[in-house]
Amino acid sequence: MIFPHVGDQFHLVYGRNLLPELTADLNNYLVVADGFVYEKYKEQLKNNHQVYIVKDVEVSTLEQDIKEYDGVDTVVAMGGGMAIDAGKWMAEHLGKKIHSVPTVLSVNAAFCYKSAMRVKNVVTYMGRIFPEAIYIDFDIIQGAPKYLNISGAGDLLACLTASYDWRLNSMVTKSHRFSQEICDGAQYLLGMLSENIDNIREVNDDGIYFMCEAFRWVAEYSAKMNHTMWESASEHAFFDNMEYVCKKPFLHGQIIGLTVYFMSLFQDNQHERAVMMLKRLGIDVTLEGLGITEDQLCTGLLTLRDFTEREGLRYTIINAKPITKEWVDMAVAKYKKDFGIVSDGQTADKCTA
Ligand SMILES: [Zn+2]
Repeated sequence: MIFPHVGDQFHLVYGRNLLPELTADLNNYLVVADGFVYEKYKEQLKNNHQVYIVKDVEVSTLEQDIKEYDGVDTVVAMGGGMAIDAGKWMAEHLGKKIHSVPTVLSVNAAFCYKSAMRVKNVVTYMGRIFPEAIYIDFDIIQGAPKYLNISGAGDLLACLTASYDWRLNSMVTKSHRFSQEICDGAQYLLGMLSENIDNIREVNDDGIYFMCEAFRWVAEYSAKMNHTMWESASEHAFFDNMEYVCKKPFLHGQIIGLTVYFMSLFQDNQHERAVMMLKRLGIDVTLEGLGITEDQLCTGLLTLRDFTEREGLRYTIINAKPITKEWVDMAVAKYKKDFGIVSDGQTADKCTA
């Protein structure tokens, strides 16, 4: 066992060919899935079921669409973060049980009791639901593009910046109950993440197992603490703001990789370690890889404190000191040097936002 078990809300089933096994015991169930995932695996689904193909995770969309599925007995959520979150939201609002089948590890959605929904395009975490079980089918996960699975490690790397913010929070607003044991555990997780980089890059069974056990460890403590501040703080706030600034969806773990880069630098906390881990994992955090401009990046940083205060986000390093234009210039120059970014061709050298 890589991590101690500190709860029993998250039952993981590891194996292969799990879908026929799971659905053989179900009837009149609702599959909430990404379209291509459903097409790929529908032959493996047994018995009578309906399917809802996820369009987005806007609450208003789901409120409208859920009306069709009042009569189902249970929900099977199958896909990436969006499908799992939509499935969780629907199961909770239908008052039904949920079985989660993540098909890719790009985000820890299957291991969160909250769902990351959108209300008018802004990320809003809501709800509280625990799955009957989470089915980790090695063949299904390995059937997803490698870079998607690898990017999920970015969501684990978030512990590096978040645990620092949490300690800071515990000394100021104390909005999120602190635990030294969990803070130490987050450092252990980062160490083990480092040890498993080769496995994660290969997306072999050991890498998948490690990532899922790490997600489970976070999830079990989150159920106990009713928050997850050791893995979601300033880097997630910066991600929320980037989504707001850029008005486009991101691959979660990938954008978190970028935001850990900048927030660890801003915290002056294990920054070079974060850089090394991002490079060794091969998570593409370049402007081009993320499909953003330098202007958007600068704006995301320069408006981060306003965004945090406006959205009433938890106290982190973002509240503790100002993000100045000078700092942003320095940080973006370092970022471009670290990742060999010459220019995105759309902006001048310096931040103008
Ligand atoms: Zn996350």
